[in-house]
Amino acid sequence: MATSVGAATRNLANAQQLQQKSPPVSCNSLAVSQVVLAQPSRVRGGLVCGYASSTFFASETPFSFVARPMPRHHQRRNGSFVVCADADYYATLGVAKTADKSEIKSAYRKLARQYHPDVNKEPEAEQKFKDISNAYEVLSDDEKRSIYDRFGEAGLKGAGGAGGTGGFNNPFDLFETFFGGMGGRSSAQARNRPVQGDDERYDLLLDFKEAVFGTEKDIDVTRLESCNTCAGSGAKPGTTPTPCSTCGGQGQVMTTAQTPLGMFQQVTTCPACKGSGEISTPCLTCSGDGRVRKSKRISLKVPAGVDSGSRLRVRSEGNAGRKGGSPGDLYVFINVKSDLELKRDGYNIYVSAKVSYIDAILGTTVKVPTVDGFVDLKIPAGTQPGSTLVMSKRGVPLLGKPNLRGDELVKVVVEIPKKLSSEERKLVEELAEVSKPKAGSSR
Ligand SMILES: [Zn+2]
Ligand SMILES: [Zn+2]
Repeated sequence: MATSVGAATRNLANAQQLQQKSPPVSCNSLAVSQVVLAQPSRVRGGLVCGYASSTFFASETPFSFVARPMPRHHQRRNGSFVVCADADYYATLGVAKTADKSEIKSAYRKLARQYHPDVNKEPEAEQKFKDISNAYEVLSDDEKRSIYDRFGEAGLKGAGGAGGTGGFNNPFDLFETFFGGMGGRSSAQARNRPVQGDDERYDLLLDFKEAVFGTEKDIDVTRLESCNTCAGSGAKPGTTPTPCSTCGGQGQVMTTAQTPLGMFQQVTTCPACKGSGEISTPCLTCSGDGRVRKSKRISLKVPAGVDSGSRLRVRSEGNAGRKGGSPGDLYVFINVKSDLELKRDGYNIYVSAKVSYIDAILGTTVKVPTVDGFVDLKIPAGTQPGSTLVMSKRGVPLLGKPNLRGDELVKVVVEIPKKLSSEERKLVEELAEVSKPKAGSSR
């Protein structure tokens, strides 16, 4: 029951997660060190820059935005941020200054649905959605609205404002309160969504010829698997989760801090329930994670032609996901031992063959090492020192195309004797005499 290996090597999807170079693997251990990769692309909880200055939303919802430049109505003056009152909430909602509460409400409903980033994929939709939410938040509140009418947006910033309205709530929470079940995205629910498991790394050291011709290896991989005791839920069997009292089931709490730039409100993950919105009795086996570290033996087919730096992906054999998320993949990083005689470069093999000067002159046949064992190679008469002879298709099978092979390139090293016997010397001198260019020859 071999696990088949997906597309191999250098052009893997997700490869950007695996930039880390293979650490050197010691030569006497075939199996191997284990490195759990950091997952920069799956970092959760990015800080989200909110709409109003001095409002930040830390969010783990799928809407994790990168911080963007300040909206244009915040201008730097005298070295500190000053909030100018030119955000027109009435215009944002498309209502008159005299609009009553129900007009404002229906305007918000209409626009929020239209610009919710779930349905509107325009790049500006997110910001527009937040603008709408912020405008509604102010105009739907009599006290905030009257402050806004008299002092503009700046009036809402002061600590004295309407009882700590230094910032705005999470626009998605506001949306949820409005539309209830639509889409089912409360922040707590968003946190309870399935999370894909992390990829796992395994380093495999191969002998030279194993890499050339492929091999089958049993590897023991340690990774997180779904906990059998709690079926991955993390809750002790037989117990029922209760809503978190710290955050009221929202999964988030808001903290406020006064800074020189103004009032900062930060929405952070509830520390009591870790954002899930509920408190459950943790499973004793997995301490509530829903996953346990286990070792599994995997029979791995290594295709012919791999080399140091090749990566093999074994689908779904990485770490288990959470909350029903799919497992990550297993990446096997290949390292190949070098060979004493055969030097490999890509799919070609390089060797050198020594021949005597007489054999180079007269021609001979020598045995040269190849990946297939020793093979006879004909050295033609008159072979020049340092010249290269090509043994076609005696190289490495191409990865994924094992019927095609590279070549073996044989560099001919001509050995000149440092000492000659007196008889040899006599013959060479005779040869020199014979070979002297004759006077008057055309050369
Ligand atoms: Zn468990
Ligand atoms: Zn909580």
